[in-house]
Amino acid sequence: MSSLSQSRCFQHVSREAVARCPDCERFYCRECVTEHDGRMICRPCLDGILEAAPKAQSGWVKAARGWFMAGLGFFLAVYAFYLVGKILLGIPSQFHNGVFLD
Ligand SMILES: [Zn+2]
Ligand SMILES: [Zn+2]
Repeated sequence: MSSLSQSRCFQHVSREAVARCPDCERFYCRECVTEHDGRMICRPCLDGILEAAPKAQSGWVKAARGWFMAGLGFFLAVYAFYLVGKILLGIPSQFHNGVFLD
């Protein structure tokens, strides 16, 4: 079992490791790790985490998407209402004109 004091940095062989990355489980020196979410994580893993995390969108993009989705929902609701109305309007006339006279 390897302990921290005996381990060397994965990237700097001459340096003693001070932390072990919880993600890749390699040992790193103080320079190679960064604190993230309360744990010491190596740079490559941190980059991976930051890249995997949803990118913070600028406010207007979010707002535009929100408005687009709201508009789309409103349009669909109106269209559904229109279809239902058309069907409801169509039923009585079909009933009354059920007998084709011509
Ligand atoms: Zn790592
Ligand atoms: Zn290092």
